[in-house]
Parts: sequence; C-alpha cells; structure tokens
Amino acid sequence: MPFPIDHDMHCHTVLSSCSSDPAQSVQALLEHAKRRGYTLQCVTDHLWDSAVPGASGWYAPQNIEHVSQNLPLPQDDQVRLVFGCETEFLGGTRLGLDPSHYDAFDFIVIPPNHFHMKNFVRPDTYDTEEKIAALFVQRLEDISNLPLPWRKVGIAHMTCSLIFKEGDQYRVYELVDEARFRAVMRKFADFGAGIEINLSCFGPGWRDHESAMLRLYRLAKEEGCKFYLASDAHHPAELDLVPQRAPEVIAALGLTEDDQFILT
Ligand SMILES: [Zn+2]
Ligand SMILES: [Zn+2]
Repeated sequence: MPFPIDHDMHCHTVLSSCSSDPAQSVQALLEHAKRRGYTLQCVTDHLWDSAVPGASGWYAPQNIEHVSQNLPLPQDDQVRLVFGCETEFLGGTRLGLDPSHYDAFDFIVIPPNHFHMKNFVRPDTYDTEEKIAALFVQRLEDISNLPLPWRKVGIAHMTCSLIFKEGDQYRVYELVDEARFRAVMRKFADFGAGIEINLSCFGPGWRDHESAMLRLYRLAKEEGCKFYLASDAHHPAELDLVPQRAPEVIAALGLTEDDQFILT
C-alpha cells in the first residue's frame, strides 16, 4: 500500500509569534484537514517551558500557558486533532520542555537544527559546513540520550535551510558522518520515534539537489526509521504544502505504508 497522505503532524497557529496570523486558527487547520481527507492533524506551536531556565527573549513568551490557549481542541468524527508542541534543543541535556510536563503534550516535535539562532542554539564558532555537519550529528546523538517519551516524539526537519543560512545547506547534508548518523537513526528507530518529512523544506528546485536533500532520509529508512508528513505551516496557504509536495518526495524515497510513523 502507498504511504498515506492523510496527516500533518507539524503545524503552527496564531499562537506562534512567527505566525501571529489570526487566520491560522485551530479551526482553520481542522477545516483544511477535513477538506483534504486527513485523519490526523497536530497543532505544534513553538514552546519553551517556563520550568526550564535559559529561554531566549523570543522564546520566553512561548510557554505552556500561552500555547494552551488553543485548548480544548475541537472534537471531530473524521480528523483526530492532537495537541503537541515544537520545543527547542540547545545540546547536551538542554531541552526546552521539562520532563515533568511531557504529559501536557500528545506529540513533541524536537528540532535538531534551528542553527539560525546564533549563540543560543548554535555557538557562533560553528561557521563552516564541516563544523555545522558535526554539530548536527552531535545534537541528534544528544537528543537520543535524553529520557524522552519516544513514541510521541518527532525529529523535525533534518533538511532545513535554517541549518546554515549563510552557507551551503546541501553541502552540510553531504558532510554528515554516515556511521554516526546511521547509529543514531537506528536508536530512533528502536525507540519508536518519528522522523519528519517537512514539505516546507522541499521548495521549487529541490530536485537540483536531490541526492543531498534525500541522503539523510534514505539512510534513516535503511536503519528502520518511520516517517510522518508535515507542512510546518504558519499561514493557511502553506497547509497545502503536504498534498502539493509529498507525493514527489514519497516516490523519490520509495516510502510505503510500512514506513509510516503511527502516533498511538
Ligand atoms: Zn522548526
Ligand atoms: Zn515549525
């Protein structure tokens, strides 16, 4: 059976300050999901838990109380709406969500590469493709050593231009150490975590960099990882990135329904 295009597991609402779009409401996400025949729609606003010290000025207002303004989520017969978050990871054990609050969310998206946030997520001494690639795999390894509720964890956008905005993102993907990357993907597979296919990263022209863009996903698949689709939409028009772009990426990776991450 083909990989189903019936879910969007990483979406922002007006409560993410980088959205701030009143049209990007939970109701708009639900209506879009119904129109597209989805069975699952996650709401994953940016989150930094007030219980964790060290929020940046940008993250400080994005606390649990703030993102919980979307609760309770509407109930729907067709679409399962799931309350999640996209938290932050700074390396080591520094996750933007305290373990005492894992239960507040039914899905936790962890970005390993928000490296545009210099001197917060990325020390600014990491300034070449080689160093960024090494930092990226180190962050994945650090995440894999956290005591997370793995079956409701997604590893966000492994390919994302934010990984090195002032450099060559494709070169970074090619430089990621294969043995270390395979080993950490095997851990994620064994833990039951999901690997995100973020369609906002597959813009026009991605085929010009196909082998670099798909390299990490191909290796993850070979190590047994399961995948989910995401628009990472901040505005209503971006919600269609999943149906518009997913078929081509799924075909290029040769994914079938056996490769799907299932959120229980
Ligand atoms: Zn992100
Ligand atoms: Zn996001």
